[in-house]
Amino acid sequence: MGAENHLISALRDASAGRDADVFANVPGGDDVSFGALFAGSERMAAALVALGVQPGDRVAVQVAKTIQAIELYLGTVMAGAVFLPLNTAYTGVEVGYFVGDAAPALVVCDPARKAEIEAIADGALVHTLDSSGEGTLRTLADNQDGFQPVPRTQDDLAAILYTSGTTGRSKGAMLSHANLVSNAEVLRDYWHFTSEDVLIHTLPIFHTHGLFVATNVALLAEAKVVFLPGFDADAILDAMPGATAMMGVPTFYTRLLSDPRLTRARASNMRLFISGSAPLLVDTHEQWEARTGHRILERYGMTETNMSTSNPHDGERRAGTVGFPLPGVEAQIMKDGAPVPLGEIGVLEVRGPNVFQGYWKMPEKTAEELRPDGWFITGDLAQIDVDGYISIVGRQKDLIITGGFNVYPKEVESLIDDLPGVLESAVIGVPHPDFGEAVVAVIARDSPNLEPDIIATGLADHLAKFKQPKRIILTEALPRNTMGKVQKKALRDQYKDLFDDKR
Ligand code: AMP
Repeated sequence: MGAENHLISALRDASAGRDADVFANVPGGDDVSFGALFAGSERMAAALVALGVQPGDRVAVQVAKTIQAIELYLGTVMAGAVFLPLNTAYTGVEVGYFVGDAAPALVVCDPARKAEIEAIADGALVHTLDSSGEGTLRTLADNQDGFQPVPRTQDDLAAILYTSGTTGRSKGAMLSHANLVSNAEVLRDYWHFTSEDVLIHTLPIFHTHGLFVATNVALLAEAKVVFLPGFDADAILDAMPGATAMMGVPTFYTRLLSDPRLTRARASNMRLFISGSAPLLVDTHEQWEARTGHRILERYGMTETNMSTSNPHDGERRAGTVGFPLPGVEAQIMKDGAPVPLGEIGVLEVRGPNVFQGYWKMPEKTAEELRPDGWFITGDLAQIDVDGYISIVGRQKDLIITGGFNVYPKEVESLIDDLPGVLESAVIGVPHPDFGEAVVAVIARDSPNLEPDIIATGLADHLAKFKQPKRIILTEALPRNTMGKVQKKALRDQYKDLFDDKR
């Protein structure tokens, strides 16, 4: 037997013999069979090779979510190249940074932005793919025949995903074929995905969640997907009676809860709702259960590690926790070089076949975060309860140190979120001349009557003085990125001068 392409073989072999069966149902478009998807991917691979893309080359892709974009992902991997997806929200300047850093052989973008991207492409070829899957790359692909995947070992790179860069410069996380295959296999089994499943695929495909968790798991399980170009409450609610599973970020769940069409009857065919990429509020978890009868399964992961922990499929899904380390993944919570006693907060480290190969062209950064013995320092603060459930307390960089005391934003946020009139909150540290940092609460309200004093009074009996916010700011909404993560860095920048008058 000839050498294989590790990721492609795993995905392709899963549905071998089912070429005529539907993989993707695209509302408003044609169904796509497993056979058609892989044939389209082969033509993409052949097109890339015709353009001169070599094994190991990066292919940077900033395009809308279409089946052809999935074919481009698979085709890139078939060609032995490295898929580098970019958030469609990135500006030309931002794309310029990624292109400069990753030096791709080819950049694929929306036709409307071709001139802008060409100006920053730094000699790379530029081709197009639009939101209907048409463009110069598609035309080229349509003229190709089949393609024999280029052999790739488990350790070869399949993708580079840039971290969202909420703190500091974006780093390119290098993911190997084995990173992706091992994680998709574990998740398929842990979450019981089978060919009976119909997954509502509504996450973006420039991020690990929609690209790897949703797409690879569905392909490996031979599941069908309802393929939606983005979050669309109407389309999701239409699809729900015929679907069995959905993966989403917490904001998907809060948005769906605000729609009266979300009912127990509509969700009765569903077996699994999965949430991750940002913390799911306990309140959302409870409301979802009350409304649909389903307990959302929350899991935790990051670009560098794929998925690391998950609440159980069969056991208790505990709200406010991210469950247990996945099979094959180890987790430890460390402080001052040693594991913390049970229940205490420390930095979460993970190790396993899911952990990435390091940061692209940043050996020092890699050495800072990835220990030689394989432990990856996630930078997330976490604790484990007596039953082994892990809770994420927040990013280490969001920890507030005020007058020498540590304040964990989540502790304060949880109390604020429970007060009437509060939608949600973000607690941040901003420079303060006396305390170093001061605790500031930024609160999205859902009642016009909410006043800072009401919050201050509500917290007074529950929190030590040093943890109580020195300033309470009311607003209509918190800033979020496209994955629904609250942008604390943006808030810190916005309010950095709040205590200047104290100088
Ligand atoms: P990204 O690399 O964009 O996927 O972001 C990863 C980060 O998202 C993690 O390091 C966590 O801070 C956060 N995150 C992911 N899943 C969860 C979760 N279930 N609960 C809390 N934070 C999460």
